[in-house]
Amino acid sequence: MRKNTICVQGGYTPKNGEPRQVPIIQSTTFKYDTSEDMGKLFDLEASGYFYSRLQNPTCDTVAKKICELEGGVAGMLTSSGQAANFYAVFNIANCGDHIVACSAIYGGTFNLFNVTMRKMGIDFTFVSPDCSEEELRSAFKPNTKAVFGETIANPALTVLDIELFAKVAHENGVPLIVDNTFATPINCRPLEFGADIVTHSTTKYMDGHGSAVGGAIIDGGKFDWFKYADKFPGLTTPDDSYHGIVYAEKFGLGGAFITKATAQLMRDFGSTPAPQSAFILNLGLESLHVRMERHCSNALKIAEFLQSDERISYVNYCGLENDKYHKLALKYLPNGSCGVVSFGVKGGRKVCEEFMKQLKYIAIETHVADAKSCCLHPASATHRQMTDEELIKAGVYPDLVRLSVGIEDVNDLIEDIKQALDAVCGG
Ligand SMILES: *Cc1c(COP(=O)(O)O)cnc(C)c1O
Repeated sequence: MRKNTICVQGGYTPKNGEPRQVPIIQSTTFKYDTSEDMGKLFDLEASGYFYSRLQNPTCDTVAKKICELEGGVAGMLTSSGQAANFYAVFNIANCGDHIVACSAIYGGTFNLFNVTMRKMGIDFTFVSPDCSEEELRSAFKPNTKAVFGETIANPALTVLDIELFAKVAHENGVPLIVDNTFATPINCRPLEFGADIVTHSTTKYMDGHGSAVGGAIIDGGKFDWFKYADKFPGLTTPDDSYHGIVYAEKFGLGGAFITKATAQLMRDFGSTPAPQSAFILNLGLESLHVRMERHCSNALKIAEFLQSDERISYVNYCGLENDKYHKLALKYLPNGSCGVVSFGVKGGRKVCEEFMKQLKYIAIETHVADAKSCCLHPASATHRQMTDEELIKAGVYPDLVRLSVGIEDVNDLIEDIKQALDAVCGG
């Protein structure tokens, strides 16, 4: 199946007389004839369902579709993107370990790493997405366990050089984890460029309608845990909580990472999605390929309009030929990037806030990446705890407006922006 067909039919093939749409199995528990049958499931000796905190058929079906879209070998859903990134890293990094992460990442992920996971004894070194190969190399320590970055960073809109980051990660014997939320597998499959694990906030384009918070983790199945067995004892030595099974041995390279994340992290932390939410996510996935095309074509037209308007001080959109990341975008995102554009209105922070107030169709929201256009002033919302100096370092200028372009008629959106600029800056 090609990607467009996977969006519609992936993960689920009904048999004769079965429902065409993915059924919602709204059951916490599953019935067995004998305690022996049940015991085998608890020992990971047999596969099957017993309790929806660990696995649920509806959630698994949707995870399988996302896995197919990314070209991976195993996948799981989580209750949010935050949970997905936490699990992906914590599955291989323990107290005393170290992670190299790109500095241009989602604010929530930055906080998870830099504050909460530091409290758990995990150390982070943040590197610029524009760093040289040498700079990237010098960030590694003997206890480094993974490299983390975003295909297109939210909200900085930088593009990750996935091949470079994968190459240096592999030289150091660790996997590359890529959060592919903004690009989606429709526009980029990081696994094809050497990434090992892909994560998603499915809350964004995948759900696409602002309806259900969720996340996903996909394993590419190529990273050889045994080759670096000393670095990854969680995968290569016995797990006492499952009678001493060794994940990488029992489930192979393709199954080990996701099985461990499910059997240990989902069991103990329980960030499990509701079957109903997985169903809503699946409805979104069915039109992902159609919506992404429109998000991207609308965003490019708006970016071009903004660039040609002299009341605008700068525009960030890697689809623009003169954008700093256009060359990387041609390589990694040849068919389009995403619907998010950022820009500044001349006159600075106050003028930007006034401009946003004047918009009629484009609503002010913290959300991004769904069918309805929205915008945010990060400096006064998601990033309001940062000083102007810190904002600039994070690539989020004090006057930056983040515009998430929806799938409305682009002419209505451009007219809306025009009238707001006229009202604030004069025609
Ligand atoms: C929103 C977002 C997250 C966090 O996802 P939630 O579903 O809100 O928990 C992680 N990474 C990126 C790139 C995001 O945009």
